[in-house]
Amino acid sequence: MGALGRKIMVVDDNQDFVDFIRKVLESKDFRVSIALDGKTAIEKAVFDIPELVLLDLKLPDIPGEEVLTRIKEIDKDIAVIVITGYGGEQVAVDMMRKGATDFLSKPIEYEVLVSSMKNALEIRDAQIEDRRFDRYPSLERFFPFLAHEIRNPLHAISGALAIIQRRSDLKDEILAQSVKIIHEEVQHLNEFVQGCLNFVRPPDAVRFIGVEINEVISAVMNVILHMLESESKKIRVVTNVDPQLPKVYANYEELKQVFLNIVKNAYEAMPDGGQLTIRACLGSDSQIIEITFIDNGIGIKKENLNKLFNPFFTTKLRGTGLGLALCRRIIVERYHGKIHIESKENKGTTVKVELPAGRGPGD
Ligand code: ADP
Ligand code: MG
Repeated sequence: MGALGRKIMVVDDNQDFVDFIRKVLESKDFRVSIALDGKTAIEKAVFDIPELVLLDLKLPDIPGEEVLTRIKEIDKDIAVIVITGYGGEQVAVDMMRKGATDFLSKPIEYEVLVSSMKNALEIRDAQIEDRRFDRYPSLERFFPFLAHEIRNPLHAISGALAIIQRRSDLKDEILAQSVKIIHEEVQHLNEFVQGCLNFVRPPDAVRFIGVEINEVISAVMNVILHMLESESKKIRVVTNVDPQLPKVYANYEELKQVFLNIVKNAYEAMPDGGQLTIRACLGSDSQIIEITFIDNGIGIKKENLNKLFNPFFTTKLRGTGLGLALCRRIIVERYHGKIHIESKENKGTTVKVELPAGRGPGD
């Protein structure tokens, strides 16, 4: 567990206990705030939502149970560990039914406390992560609707633009520029809509076949050379694919889409040229195929590393932020594989994809 900076609130009226806990937790790099009674705890929680609360059952003003309820109303993701004195266990158990993650009896051993906190924070993180995925079903309904609503007017705009282009004097520099802008923006919107649709397109297991990784990589490079003709000249591509590599049981188009998104990102990260290395080899236990894409482009800011796979996260003016979200969806959800990104700003980025060798989804 990275304790670094995680926000903990200790609610207890025993000053000695509070001082002790604060010292211990701060030495472990937790950020600790203190409330000596229930009312203060609730006020503080509203103002600066903690990730985890250590809550004493017996407070001078409000019963601990009520504080628990109020805290969960503020944000149900706040993890709560109940601290009891002698004989408070029954109430503590009841509180677990009301959303507390654990209870500890005083005197508390340091290791027990840290392990309980670690567990509570992990549960909290997992709940937040799960909800991120829960949102997808609504996107599944929303995107096709959005696509329809956007595409129709886009077609009309494109058509009208073609007429303007044919019938006007495009030697007029300003007019030509404006037409170009409209054209590019329409194209961007079209791509965005397509990205949304790709993201939610339902699985089509029928087309799963044995796919040669080598073939997919060649196909992707062909597409890239066409798509980014001007950039292509400045980028050296080195591929190193183990010729003995077993096939992956996959949907060819889907896999191509994944590699294309990754390679496109690499190209976009090297506007002044650079090198892209693509490696594919069998993992040490022969169960997985590892495909690695290494670029020496602009890299990724540390604070963005955990957002890359979120739908719509982009740092690009013309990005959709759906490329990696789709990659993750396909690789993790459909193929039970893994995708992992390491990066250093101004140094470059490594994207590693792991696929089960020769097995289909659901095996
Ligand atoms: P988009 O390309 O539309 O921005 P993606 O989901 O493909 O959306 O990527 C999300 C973000 O991840 C990018 O905006 C960029 O900030 C970062 N990123 C992805 N791949 C790379 C890379 N190879 N080098 C640098 N940044 C990258
Ligand atoms: Mg992209």
